[in-house]
Amino acid sequence: MTRPRVVVIGAGFGGIAAAHELARDPVDITIVDRNNFHTFQPLLYQVATAGLNSADVAFPVRAIFRRQPNVTFRKASVRGVDWERATLAVDEGSDIGFDHLVVAAGATTNTFGIDGAEHALPLYSLRDAVALRNHVLSQFELAASQPDAVVDGQLTFVVVGGGPTGVEVAGALVELFDQVLRKDFRSLDMSRAVVVLVEMRDDLLGSFHPPSRRHARETLASRGVDVRTGAVVDRITPAALHLRSGAVIATETVIWAAGVKADSLASVLGVEVGAGGRIVVGSDLTIPGHTGAYAVGDIAEIPGRDGPLPQVAQVAMQTGRHAARQIRASLEGASLRPFRYRDKGTMATIGRRAAVTELPIGLRLRGTLAWLAWLGLHLVYLAGFRNRISVFLNWAWNYITWDRGPRLILDTPPAHGDAPNDASEDAGEPPTESQRNR
Ligand SMILES: Cc1cc2nc3c(=O)[nH]c(=O)nc-3n(C[C@H](O)[C@H](O)[C@H](O)COP(=O)(O)OP(=O)(O)OC[C@H]3O[C@@H](n4cnc5c(N)ncnc54)[C@H](O)[C@@H]3O)c2cc1C
Repeated sequence: MTRPRVVVIGAGFGGIAAAHELARDPVDITIVDRNNFHTFQPLLYQVATAGLNSADVAFPVRAIFRRQPNVTFRKASVRGVDWERATLAVDEGSDIGFDHLVVAAGATTNTFGIDGAEHALPLYSLRDAVALRNHVLSQFELAASQPDAVVDGQLTFVVVGGGPTGVEVAGALVELFDQVLRKDFRSLDMSRAVVVLVEMRDDLLGSFHPPSRRHARETLASRGVDVRTGAVVDRITPAALHLRSGAVIATETVIWAAGVKADSLASVLGVEVGAGGRIVVGSDLTIPGHTGAYAVGDIAEIPGRDGPLPQVAQVAMQTGRHAARQIRASLEGASLRPFRYRDKGTMATIGRRAAVTELPIGLRLRGTLAWLAWLGLHLVYLAGFRNRISVFLNWAWNYITWDRGPRLILDTPPAHGDAPNDASEDAGEPPTESQRNR
């Protein structure tokens, strides 16, 4: 007897959680992803700032399900769904038929049509992270080749977006410059290396409580980040960032951490999409009009108590598991249930011994304790034992020695917005146009 075929599009937090949940059921599961690895996005910024190796934050999908014979992997990019025939059209190989479908293709950067956005560097994929590391280190190499002729903006690094990602990147960059590159580039006047954090709202970390926001701002400022709030980006050129106020920041590096939109797959499925291009789903995560099809994680507009749920890992994992349980229920003839999100809290790291953590029970931590909680939680959720050990050792090494590991320029940095010309160690998905602001 043939078993029901469950196809999961995307091996991110949502897709992996769905496949894990169903792996012991009498179904055949196929995970389809354009990359052969799962990316742990919350630590991408550490790859970009030379804190971790790229292989530490990614894990091969086949290895995750090595012991589950009913889970197979197909490396392919999904181009669309033929709902009548219940098949996925993919860029490589034959179409993929399904009885149940979980769409978990995630999100990508949203630059909101800003003029010159192609000059900004995104941080959404592993490839983006390595391209950013290449670029940052190359700027220093370039400056060191003519230390007396450093041009204005050559060593000015502007991060756009004061959400957790922007705060993390800005904090990690100043640490990299102060603690590591200062020793590597002895001929350079390091006072020229500047990090500017630009946020359009009046404060950083808008989703946190005021004391956490203040802590983030004060810590970043005390570590040398030039924090500019209430600053709206007007346009970007290869040599400057222009603010709507008329202010101009000379820079050759704009890192875009200010917006997110659903993966483009959402727009070719012929289903209803809402704000940010997210697939509209019912409270049971089904895609209206398509029995047996669910959308989870960042690509879905999941109704919550106060509007759509945020695009974060916990939502993706919980909705992935819930969709899998719905499939189980429908196979057993049981009725579908609405999804209820369990908020487990939120955290952001600012740098060495500095983070903010807010738990739903009202507990708020700042400083070293919050930082340790952040480190522990990220280790727990990281896929793969080897990765956990490697990340832990890297962190311990960086902490004890005030040093960083992988300061490698692996590739000629791509022109802004271009595809990198080498997939080497760091093959990632095709370049996306952008970034996120959690
Ligand atoms: C830099 C950064 C930092 C973050 N930090 C945090 C954090 O600290 N805490 C937190 O909770 N959240 C964080 N997030 C958000 C979190 O990572 C996402 O909410 C989560 O990854 C969403 O999971 P997902 O499964 O929906 O999508 P993803 O994890 O994005 O996975 C989507 C998968 O689908 C694949 N895919 C996409 N389109 C196709 C296609 N057409 N065909 C085949 N495969 C496809 C992609 O390759 C990818 O593997 C961060 C995100 C970023 C970018």
